[in-house]
Amino acid sequence: MKCPMCEQGILKQGKIKEHMFGVYLGEFPAEICSKCNESFTSPETTRAIEEEAKKRGIWGMAKKTKITKSGNSLSVRIPKEIARFLKLEKGKEAYLHPEGNKLVIET
Ligand SMILES: [Zn+2]
Repeated sequence: MKCPMCEQGILKQGKIKEHMFGVYLGEFPAEICSKCNESFTSPETTRAIEEEAKKRGIWGMAKKTKITKSGNSLSVRIPKEIARFLKLEKGKEAYLHPEGNKLVIET
């Protein structure tokens, strides 16, 4: 089968290592393009990946937040799921730095 992304490569049965938010979810079967390396998973596999992410408590962790003003600086509200995942607590020290257009919080 031809790759729908690059329309040049051939799709071959293989395995992909799936990660979400830096958490390794395991190996899953996928069709991988011989040219562009794009991988395609079946609806069943996509569901299995979702189940695995839910089991690890990281499903749906990407959330929208509003930036508010607090004195002269800005505040970002961190959803409780992310705070729990990163073990962030009130009063704990953290380091902030930009990375491209991302904001990295390190503890
Ligand atoms: Zn391709």
